[in-house]
Amino acid sequence: MITDTTSGNRGLLQAEPLIFETGHATGAGVDLPAPKGTPNKLGGLGRKAALDLPGLSEPETMRHFVRLSQRNYAIDLGLFPLGSCTMKHNPRLNERAARFEGFADLHPLQPTSTIQGALELMDELAHWLCTLTGMPAVALSPKAGAHGEMCGMLAIKAALEARGESSRKRVLVPSSAHGTNPATAAAAGFTVDEIPARDDGRVHLDDVKAKLGPDVAAIMITNPNTCGLFEPEIKNIADAIHAAGAYFYCDGANYNAIVGKVRPGDLGVDAMHINLHKTFSTPHGGGGPGAGPTVLSAALAPFAPVPHIVLKAGVRELREHIAGTQAFGRMCAFHGQMGMFTRALTYMMSHGSDGLRQVAEDAVLNANYLLARLRPHFSAPFGERPCMHEVLLDDSSIKPKGVETIDMAKALLDEGYHPFTTYFPLVVHGAMLIEPTETEPKRELDRFADVMIALAERVKAGEVEFFKQAPKLTPMRRLDDTRAARQPKLRWRRGENDAGAKVAAE
Ligand SMILES: *Cc1c(COP(=O)(O)O)cnc(C)c1O
Repeated sequence: MITDTTSGNRGLLQAEPLIFETGHATGAGVDLPAPKGTPNKLGGLGRKAALDLPGLSEPETMRHFVRLSQRNYAIDLGLFPLGSCTMKHNPRLNERAARFEGFADLHPLQPTSTIQGALELMDELAHWLCTLTGMPAVALSPKAGAHGEMCGMLAIKAALEARGESSRKRVLVPSSAHGTNPATAAAAGFTVDEIPARDDGRVHLDDVKAKLGPDVAAIMITNPNTCGLFEPEIKNIADAIHAAGAYFYCDGANYNAIVGKVRPGDLGVDAMHINLHKTFSTPHGGGGPGAGPTVLSAALAPFAPVPHIVLKAGVRELREHIAGTQAFGRMCAFHGQMGMFTRALTYMMSHGSDGLRQVAEDAVLNANYLLARLRPHFSAPFGERPCMHEVLLDDSSIKPKGVETIDMAKALLDEGYHPFTTYFPLVVHGAMLIEPTETEPKRELDRFADVMIALAERVKAGEVEFFKQAPKLTPMRRLDDTRAARQPKLRWRRGENDAGAKVAAE
């Protein structure tokens, strides 16, 4: 914590302890009458000591959470160059539509006769997703990309079981894959077989063929891949996979680079999740839950999870079973993230099909503009050719000077930017993955590029200490990431509450 003022505050930014440290058990924001002589039915199991809840007045509560929110970097504060995450602007039009009471105030157990509009919206979203991807079916319910992967892999598992081929256990995953891919395959009961990386950052047909066999269940490939490159052999790989009796799971997290340009269905994809919080501009994390609808090929569609929306004589119903299908189960208690469906469909309809094509074009153009500006100052492993939607740099040109990827990331904090993605993909040492997205105007890209280039100049000038000291201007200085991961402090106990200050001081 900053210690050069009496209060611990800095400028107009207020230091903020935990709510348990500021609160006082006797205070409360409301004034309720004491309960009238209700007999205690706890039979001696009642609490002996005070509950120790933080009691705060209403203004204190407001201030606590608003101060915390000021410590958070957000897409509404500035460019968020995090590669692989697609941090794009969340249009306010989406927010307005999601707040219409006909969508926002529904309960999932309401009779379907009272939610016809909401079901129509879900059907319309499904129609757009199927049309854009060229796939016949979609499961809307998965609640994140990783959850969508699980949905796709469970559909593959069910299809194999239905064929009497549950002995197919091996799933091929390139070494450049996002960690969720092997994790999903393993969690779904498959074994993971890694396809080693090649120097050009792409998956080669020969490497896939060499791994094929009667025990292969599926391949999981990201396209465009996590190096920001389109996989040129993707169709041939899909054909080889199918010829071997296996399925093709495509990780669609990077779909924003090709939406409206390429239909995954035409590439032979059997299942692909679409992160609505990436491609279709719905908020990430604290701003709203994720949503990972998963499109399925004709071969996998019969195994799609319930519920299904069925239109009969102009009325939509939610069905748990449709004759001739063998749903593998369900992905969540109800129907998925209604608020995110509303936001995503608003984004689609406000762009139109031509506008969505331009989303992909502008995302790729913005990334290539950054690549062109940064390439002279940094090492760009595959940068001799244009990239897709993200720019991959590494620290090989700055490391000999004593500055690494982590130091660049920390220096960016002082400049008011959330860092780029660090050390991912793993196949590139010291990776710095930058994704500007289509929603950043050229002025913002130039400001960011100017900052990156100025930092590169500092490296050239040998200002190693500048980097090792960074961040200097944030409320917390450089933290011990390794110790935080190895010895995480997951619980706060009264009396040990100086731990935070101690970590900061170190
Ligand atoms: C983001 C991402 C995922 C996981 O999606 P979540 O919505 O975060 O669960 C999977 N693969 C890739 C390549 C990603 O970028």
